[in-house]
Amino acid sequence: MQDCKHWQDLAAKVSPETRLFIDGKFVDAVDGQRFTTFNPATGKPIVEMVRGNSKDIDLAVRAARRAYKSGVWSRMAPRARMDVMYRIARLMELHADEFALLDCLDMGKPITELTGGDVPFSILTFQYFAETIDKIEGTVTSTDPSALHMIVREPLGVVACITPWNYPLMMAAWKVAPALAAGNSVILKPAEQSPMSALLLARIFAEAGVPDGVFNVVNGFGEDTGKVLGLHMDVDKIGFTGSTEVGKLMMVYSGQSNMKKVTTECGGKSPQIVLADADLGAAVTYAVNGIYTNQGEVCSAGSRLLVQESLYEEFVERFALEAQRFQPGDPLDPATTMGPLVTPEQQTRVLGYIESGKREGAQLILGGDRPVGMDAGNYVQPTLFGKVNETMTIAREEIFGPVGAVIPFKTPEDAVAIANNSIYGLASSIWTRDLTTAHRMARDIEAGIVWINCYEHGDMTQPWGGYKQSGQGRDKCFDTMLAHMQTKSVWINLG
Ligand code: NAD
Repeated sequence: MQDCKHWQDLAAKVSPETRLFIDGKFVDAVDGQRFTTFNPATGKPIVEMVRGNSKDIDLAVRAARRAYKSGVWSRMAPRARMDVMYRIARLMELHADEFALLDCLDMGKPITELTGGDVPFSILTFQYFAETIDKIEGTVTSTDPSALHMIVREPLGVVACITPWNYPLMMAAWKVAPALAAGNSVILKPAEQSPMSALLLARIFAEAGVPDGVFNVVNGFGEDTGKVLGLHMDVDKIGFTGSTEVGKLMMVYSGQSNMKKVTTECGGKSPQIVLADADLGAAVTYAVNGIYTNQGEVCSAGSRLLVQESLYEEFVERFALEAQRFQPGDPLDPATTMGPLVTPEQQTRVLGYIESGKREGAQLILGGDRPVGMDAGNYVQPTLFGKVNETMTIAREEIFGPVGAVIPFKTPEDAVAIANNSIYGLASSIWTRDLTTAHRMARDIEAGIVWINCYEHGDMTQPWGGYKQSGQGRDKCFDTMLAHMQTKSVWINLG
């Protein structure tokens, strides 16, 4: 494993691409604007990025449409498109350290999470969707002999992918890989807090043989670029990952413009339910990881810890001990388990939620403040509240930080009722040794994902997405490929 000095040396030399990527070229913005991206661990600027607006979005959409219509990618033989996608995956492997470094500097995620998680999973995403390309088939349906009816699948056209900052490379991969694999042209609009790794992706795509115009990156702010894509009359689909608030706007933009298809992967407030017969050691370990990984800036963070009353004291005690594994530190140090939050605004927001927990009468068990002596970065201590009830703000709203809330419950039925008492429904877990209880509760829980005796397990076949206001549509999985295509009915009269 590389040591801290290795990463610090690389960081000192880093010279990221800063321009937009449109029609196969790195370009400045039409209006020449820029914005600064900051290192959340130090508060210092990293680099000035080129900032796009509606003029750059227009150019990107035009290039994407031109490429789509030319058929250079959309009608490329499936095996040839697969070859390009596999080349992308291989080139990403060669640049794995660079990807890890860029996201670590941009959003503060610990480097080992990137080298062991985000980067390999992003590579796997391109491999998985490459594999699906020649598995897509049309259908000949059963009709009257006087007709031949074929259902064929075609790409949608121009797809805009709008992504958040919490897994910059991985969220881009989840959105872009199926869109490209299906034969669409793509415009990626990364979050303004983490704009760097998308441009390395663009360089790799060009090297791998993605034709000009098929993939474009326009960095910029939500109102100037994301909204313009949402309202654009020549974009056929928005693949959005981000907050529920902005996800709803995407649906409005679609209705106000061309009824483009919209899929949204949004926020969560996921329950981890621990029943009295659980393997407590395992449940505590997963519960700690489930809320503190990536500083709690995870859509599926298991932020509501529902614990059966008889276990409550022991659970809380063991949780506080295990939580010591998560100590805020320099994200470039491979020993660090918890980095800073992405921005000072996010830090203020999370500290505000901690204050609301105290004010509304929850019991502060762990953390609850900034760590001492780390004022340069946007750090927050791993925090745990006990004796939380389901009406408190910290039990209802997505905090998106390292703050767990332990909610005691009496019966499995109570647990399900509390779990479902949320506008969100992304993920959940049930810890029990009783298979019947587990199956029954899994049926009753309103969430896109139910983990039993684990948390955050899965592979590329797992549909990723939520019930209720956690969004609509799914990432990963074979169905995602189909969601980037449309069906055409070809009815031939043989009579
Ligand atoms: P955000 O909604 O603020 O921003 C997401 C993207 O939308 C960014 O690219 C941003 O520039 C753009 N945007 C912002 N305002 C816009 C507007 N008015 N019009 C158009 N585009 C706009 O979200 P965030 O803070 O970057 O990310 C955190 C959120 O993402 C959390 O709620 C988290 O749960 C969610 N998330 C969900 C999943 C999932 O799979 N369900 C995965 C990761 C993150």
